[in-house]
Amino acid sequence: MAKILITDDSPTILDMIGAYLRDAGYQIVTALNGVEAVEKTFTEHPDLIILDIMMPNMNGYQTCRYLKNERSTSRIPIILFTSRDQPADKFWGLQTGADKYILKDMWHTDLLGTIEVLLRFRPQYAGSGELVQKLKPPDMWEILYRINELLDKSLYEATISNQIGQLSLSNDNLLETVNALFKLYESFISFPVAALIMGDRKECHSYLKVNSKVGRFDLGKIKGESLKIFAGGRAGETGSESENLQIIVRDDNRELIIEEECLIRDLAQRLFHIPREEGGKIPGLFTFCLSPIVMENTEELERLKRISRQAFIVLEDGFLFERLRGLAITDDLTGLYNRRHFFEVLNREYYRAIRYKTIFSLAIMDIDHFKKINDTYGHMAGDFVLREIARIIQEECRTTDLLARFGGEEFSLLLVETPINGAKILCERIRKQIEDHQFILQNQSLKITVSIGISWSSGGEEPSLGELIFFADKAMYQAKSLGRNRVCLMEKKDDSN
Ligand code: GH3
Ligand code: MG
Ligand code: MG
Repeated sequence: MAKILITDDSPTILDMIGAYLRDAGYQIVTALNGVEAVEKTFTEHPDLIILDIMMPNMNGYQTCRYLKNERSTSRIPIILFTSRDQPADKFWGLQTGADKYILKDMWHTDLLGTIEVLLRFRPQYAGSGELVQKLKPPDMWEILYRINELLDKSLYEATISNQIGQLSLSNDNLLETVNALFKLYESFISFPVAALIMGDRKECHSYLKVNSKVGRFDLGKIKGESLKIFAGGRAGETGSESENLQIIVRDDNRELIIEEECLIRDLAQRLFHIPREEGGKIPGLFTFCLSPIVMENTEELERLKRISRQAFIVLEDGFLFERLRGLAITDDLTGLYNRRHFFEVLNREYYRAIRYKTIFSLAIMDIDHFKKINDTYGHMAGDFVLREIARIIQEECRTTDLLARFGGEEFSLLLVETPINGAKILCERIRKQIEDHQFILQNQSLKITVSIGISWSSGGEEPSLGELIFFADKAMYQAKSLGRNRVCLMEKKDDSN
């Protein structure tokens, strides 16, 4: 016969519910408050507990939280039985770990069925009853101390969760978010190195965060191990079309990474992996290199997992946002930046150059007689040529140069910190590369050329931004009128003065 512990500060309720359940065939024990309920759980070892919420000395929420957090009592089903009918009451009740929440008004219809279900499906483990029987019941001070401790822990985690939530509001790109996130982790756990991988088939980002001295060998090993877990056993690959790795070093101090060395002892045993659970759209994995002491602290590791679950949500938002932003600034056909993004960056660079007295050059390139290619070979062939030319120009550029599709068959190129001589040499090289390239259209080899105009800023307010673009365009038209397939420079103002 199953034993039920009913707890309520009203003797009338205890009598009424007690009689009702006894009639239904249960053995009944009663308690008048939370502390007594805990004590009786240990001395009477009930199979199920019913808890009122409003009770003197320790209320039902606290009692439930206590019992659900003790290993020896956590599996006993608990029903919160109350007249509090607000959604917030129910929410908080279930947050404490209660299995069911039943309103006192509804007991006639709900109580028996719920008890039956909970008893039938209650989690079992070997010797569940024995575990409670062997332990001495805690006294009131022990119970209250433990309740305080539990609340303190929840508050601690809630504070961290809250700060993680804030990250998504205060950072506007993924790298910044990752950086801030690792900083937050550092404030409550110490790790010399950590890794994060996020991504799907299309693209994948991995980050290595270095906090103290490590060797290249250690970094390689951590990266390899986490990639292996992320890719489900395949070493060193994510299975994504594009993969990129960022190494974030504390205070930008690159000296923390020692070449060709292995500085972390027993590295493999110190890696703690936290894969993102199923359900998130973008798979992810955190890997922390922890001290052997932390590796043995299951409570700390569990907390790290819970916090990382939260972190993944914020990271996924950042990831998807970044991808959307990428789409918004990319030209579909060529994969280069689009005109809008080019103007945005050019505008920034223009004012930066004035402020820091730096120089930059601007080139505009236009394919010669492009209309004829479309007319002769069709639009698809024209598109192919555009992509080929975009690729050729891109290959000649540095990563700091900004190349964009400026219009139909025009490209624009911003060369930061580059004087006119440098720009001219680069543009000549681009022009020559395209001239020498064999374009194969419908099995025919074809020669295509471009005309290029260049303008530049020496960090002053003249020419203005509008004039810079106009001058580059004018130079490009001059190249056309001089016979195409050439590079022309803007006319200097003082030439005319
Ligand atoms: P010029 O040497 O004077 O620059 O002659 P052009 O024929 O290149 O110049 P024009 O401005 O007369 O023609 C540009 C052509 O580029 C016309 C337009 O159909 C084509 N075009 C623009 N955008 C695209 C595109 O996305 N795909 C294709 N296939 N053609 C495009
Ligand atoms: Mg044109
Ligand atoms: Mg053209």
